[in-house]
Amino acid sequence: MTVIETATAAPVDTRPYTSFIGTVARVVELSSSMIRITCTGPDFENFGPSRYDQRIKLILPVPGRGFADFPTGADWFEQWRLQPPEQQNPIRTYTVRAFRSESAELDIDLVRHGINGPASAWASQVAAGDPVAVLGPNRRYDGEHGGVEFVPPPAGTPMLLAGDETALPAIAAILEQVPADVRGKAIIEVPHADDRLELIKPAGVRVEWLIRGDAPVGRPMIDCFAGHAAELFGSQTGTAPALPVEDDDPELEPWDVAEQGNYAWIAGEAAMIRTLRRLLVNDLGVPRTSVAFMGYWRL
Ligand SMILES: Cc1cc2nc3c(=O)[nH]c(=O)nc-3n(C[C@H](O)[C@H](O)[C@H](O)COP(=O)(O)OP(=O)(O)OC[C@H]3O[C@@H](n4cnc5c(N)ncnc54)[C@H](O)[C@@H]3O)c2cc1C
Repeated sequence: MTVIETATAAPVDTRPYTSFIGTVARVVELSSSMIRITCTGPDFENFGPSRYDQRIKLILPVPGRGFADFPTGADWFEQWRLQPPEQQNPIRTYTVRAFRSESAELDIDLVRHGINGPASAWASQVAAGDPVAVLGPNRRYDGEHGGVEFVPPPAGTPMLLAGDETALPAIAAILEQVPADVRGKAIIEVPHADDRLELIKPAGVRVEWLIRGDAPVGRPMIDCFAGHAAELFGSQTGTAPALPVEDDDPELEPWDVAEQGNYAWIAGEAAMIRTLRRLLVNDLGVPRTSVAFMGYWRL
């Protein structure tokens, strides 16, 4: 009797978000504060789609173990949470700066703020050829993946983007992808003059760079934000009642996204974000439903 062995094919992974493990193809120093890492490998052929401020999770290696213990099954999060701390790969949130499907290359721009956090410490010494792992949108999933907060403004409505260096990758990606007739402003606070990166943008969007230098994080932005917003939204404020901003609890990560097309998309250090939203909603009367504001990190 002949026994025919049939190999059981692994089930196709159709989760909206999944893990991608590959290698660092390149590391480019963009400025004093920022590096770009390009990730690639066969897994990345199934990455995407990505648009606007698509967020992803960067999984950081455990010294001596790399990604060997990172659980990749459908219940990876529960498994990860149950792991002892010394075995657990740290996870941090980043933005897709660009994805090129033809070469399966994912660019992530990371701020190097010292060796005080696992992601920044990794960014200070990562090199081409190193292993890399991310959680991101899975092309084999046929629905809405989530992780995108930016919505283009309704036709004729001005757009305000504001953020610090951690929001610069998202702002750069948004400016590259919005319709060419969008008009508005992008206000970006960065640590140093050489952090002002080249941006591709619609002609009707003005970019204001603010150099922080020795000032506290958020100070340059807070000092000029109301003026810029009033200039842009002057004739539009007050069209809907401005509700008071309720989430003043400093322990809560500020996060709220616009329900309709955005007037304003604001991201960066949490305390700065809280202040900017108050200026916009309480003082200028921009409807809170038109403001996406997101704490990306906290001091
Ligand atoms: C949706 C989303 C998208 C993001 N996209 C990007 C992105 O594309 N690029 C990017 O660089 N960041 C991005 N961030 C911010 C990033 O997740 C945080 O900066 C994160 O804290 C970095 O992790 P870490 O391990 O370096 O530091 P952590 O372990 O989180 O923190 C360690 C210490 O570092 C401080 N710290 C953290 N971030 C900074 C910073 N930027 N500057 C100075 N001090 C800091 C903290 O206050 C803390 O004291 C994003 C965050 C979110 C929520």
